[in-house]
Amino acid sequence: MSTQPRIVIIGAGPTGLGAGYRLAELGYDDWVMLEANDYVGGLATSFTDDAGFTYDIGGHVMFSHYPYYDALVDKLMGDDYTTLNREAWVWMQDRFIPYPFQNNLKDLEPETVLECLMGLIEAQRREAAPANFREWIDAVMGRGIAEHFMVPYNFKVWATPAERMNYVWIGERVSVVDIEGVLRSILFDAPETTWGPNNTFRYPLRGGTGSLYEGMREFVEPNLELRCPVRSVDPVAKQVTSDDGRVWPYDILLSTMPLDRLVGAMESVPDRVRSAAGTLESSSTHVVGVGIDRPAGSDKNWIYFPEPDVPFYRVTYLSNYSPHMTPAPDQTLLLTETSFSEHKPEDGDTIVDRVVDGLITTGLMTAEDRGRIVSTWHCAPPQTYPVPTVGRDAALGTVQPWLRAHDIWSRGRFGAWLYEIGNMDHSAMQGVEFVDAVLQGAPETVWIPRGEGEAGAGIR
Ligand SMILES: Cc1cc2nc3c(=O)[nH]c(=O)nc-3n(C[C@H](O)[C@H](O)[C@H](O)COP(=O)(O)OP(=O)(O)OC[C@H]3O[C@@H](n4cnc5c(N)ncnc54)[C@H](O)[C@@H]3O)c2cc1C
Repeated sequence: MSTQPRIVIIGAGPTGLGAGYRLAELGYDDWVMLEANDYVGGLATSFTDDAGFTYDIGGHVMFSHYPYYDALVDKLMGDDYTTLNREAWVWMQDRFIPYPFQNNLKDLEPETVLECLMGLIEAQRREAAPANFREWIDAVMGRGIAEHFMVPYNFKVWATPAERMNYVWIGERVSVVDIEGVLRSILFDAPETTWGPNNTFRYPLRGGTGSLYEGMREFVEPNLELRCPVRSVDPVAKQVTSDDGRVWPYDILLSTMPLDRLVGAMESVPDRVRSAAGTLESSSTHVVGVGIDRPAGSDKNWIYFPEPDVPFYRVTYLSNYSPHMTPAPDQTLLLTETSFSEHKPEDGDTIVDRVVDGLITTGLMTAEDRGRIVSTWHCAPPQTYPVPTVGRDAALGTVQPWLRAHDIWSRGRFGAWLYEIGNMDHSAMQGVEFVDAVLQGAPETVWIPRGEGEAGAGIR
């Protein structure tokens, strides 16, 4: 391998941009970035509609685990950001419960509190190791919390039965239960809302989350090819072909496109690798935004919806993140997320109407607000959540080593297919660390190999 390898990057989302930024920072020039869209940012892009409302692809909250990423964000945003203390809630039993639900049971119906507490006590007596996420929920939270919140809510988010999922991704994504804390919150009427890494977060003042990645574009512009979808990858000849027929030779390929589609676009792949990639599962999201001409009347950031009477699992008050998300002051922008998959079909033709009905059912809008809707926005990217299925790590343990033996590094939310390192900071840092590994021999710390015996290690 040359010490000056020719690098091709597929995708200009946060992962590709992280890699491109680092290459530019090191003054390295033998690389190209191929992006299917005519814009950068991938799933972290924001869009401003004709009416002037700015939407993210689902509420994106910015928080980081890495000093390098923090410094990059500081450089890109300067002073142009807002800082928010998380105001997150759960809507169920016709009331708002502070998030995390399991730490704030006291606000539920007494019968439900009793069922949750009895389930927790019973769970303490279990000994068998859980085989899947459903069993993990029962074992850690007990049947009451499972049935009232965890199982229905997670099905709404993942569009996948919990029995099909593993639980190695949980780390800091799910607040586990501290029984003493639960009892204290009930007996002393003390809400506990500070859990988690995103209890304070920053948000760009203008242009939504995507403005951050748009800001990275200037660093990669000379090496960036937009409107350049990759059609096929030949791992033997080591070249990529784009839809327009151009051929891009590489010594090393960084792919941030979905791993299943990468393998599908390759020739000369052994059957075991192709079939392992074929077992990876993802779900998608109908993201629907509603712009309303009246003040928000709430300082909430977002609300979770575990109950089946409304389609969405989360609503974000995006207009509370920055006053510049709406075209005029005193307007409201609600952003909703509704998942779908083969396990949970959702009719895309009626989703906007069903979302508006749901916002009224849950009191986030009044019936009169229908007449105040200035704008609605709908997008449904084909893949939004890489589902951590029970067989995921075994599949990755087959696919990734084979790719790597062919000098292909598959990284990022769908490149790595690891939800636990699928946020923006994780993704951008996977790109940065790819460059440091290839050019300087530094070890990767964010992405770590999966497969037997290695699952779950290294998560931060
Ligand atoms: C609903 C939702 C909510 C989220 N909330 C948060 C949050 O609150 N906080 C947070 O940190 N993160 C959040 N994320 C995650 C965040 O969006 C991802 O971390 C980030 O976008 C991943 O970057 P990526 O570059 O790996 O992938 P992507 O953003 O998917 O980018 C991949 C790029 O590759 C391009 N591409 C794909 N195929 C090809 C091809 N064949 N040829 C050329 N180009 C191709 C795509 O067009 C895209 O631009 C959320 C994601 C979703 C979906």
